[in-house]
Amino acid sequence: MLNRFDYLCPENTEKAIQLLLDNPGAEILAGGTDLLLELREKSTPDKVLIDIKKCADLQGIEEQDDFISIGALTTIREIRSSKIIKQEYKALRDAADVFGCLEIRNRATIGGNIVNASPGAEYGTPLFAFEAEVEITGPNGSRVVPIDKFWFDLARVDLKKGEILKRILIPRIESQVLSGYLRLSRVKGMDLASLGVSVVVMDPGQVDKREIRVAMAAVQRTPYRNSEVEKLLSHKEIDPNLIEEAKAGLAASIAPRESSLRAKPAYKKAMVGTLMEKILKSLKVS
Ligand SMILES: Cc1cc2nc3c(=O)[nH]c(=O)nc-3n(C[C@H](O)[C@H](O)[C@H](O)COP(=O)(O)OP(=O)(O)OC[C@H]3O[C@@H](n4cnc5c(N)ncnc54)[C@H](O)[C@@H]3O)c2cc1C
Repeated sequence: MLNRFDYLCPENTEKAIQLLLDNPGAEILAGGTDLLLELREKSTPDKVLIDIKKCADLQGIEEQDDFISIGALTTIREIRSSKIIKQEYKALRDAADVFGCLEIRNRATIGGNIVNASPGAEYGTPLFAFEAEVEITGPNGSRVVPIDKFWFDLARVDLKKGEILKRILIPRIESQVLSGYLRLSRVKGMDLASLGVSVVVMDPGQVDKREIRVAMAAVQRTPYRNSEVEKLLSHKEIDPNLIEEAKAGLAASIAPRESSLRAKPAYKKAMVGTLMEKILKSLKVS
């Protein structure tokens, strides 16, 4: 049974911020796919939920000159059907393809996914690999934080009292870019990722300029990239020896939690490089 809660639904973001300040301990409700489960499963004191769905400035995907802006309330279904995401940020689309089921994709928001910050959350790695930033709005105005600084520990994010995640800003990339996301999960049906990997390849056709980024989820307490392995893979032809070296580098660099519910550290170390290799092959990068 759901724990008891009071429900407030402000008309705009300014009112939502004020309600957060007026109701210490209140929680923001977006799609509710994480929060309502928590209210059902955990015995929590009565809560105030502040539904932000009427806040117009948290909605939608917009193309701007230097970045694309994805509002925190954008659903996974909207990401999946966005043309610009399919064309320029395919790893985000791949993540939407494997996300939950139709009903969950219709409700779950990208903002909720990032703030909930579960270790295997689908949007951890693609946003990190694209070097996204998040815009946070609150009683003292707005601030922008690189996404990897926003997650500062397992399921902990940099949100202060009265603050709301407003939108995600992903840099536009002038050169050609290829990307992909793959995950492992315990079952074929619905499950969170046991391990997730995103690869972004900038300038794939120009070996001397080519930059390769590899972001991993559920291998450390927060999404993780290893600069040594990225340096190893960048600016050179990819051959089987280089791939093996990169796979060994990734396995050595990660420290998965023993307490992870979904997969043992040894399995993650064995598979993380394989996912990277599969993505590079699917992108035909050589
Ligand atoms: C059956 C099922 C399948 C699932 N499958 C997947 C999956 O495949 N991959 C995956 O990654 N996840 C999955 N999830 C988890 C969940 O759907 C996602 O994490 C989802 O993106 C959360 O978004 P939401 O809008 O529902 O968040 P909510 O549940 O509304 O909120 C989650 C948390 O974020 C906070 N919050 C939300 N929006 C904001 C904001 N704008 N500013 C500040 N705080 C905010 C809330 O207060 C709450 O603490 C699944 C869940 C279920 C129930």
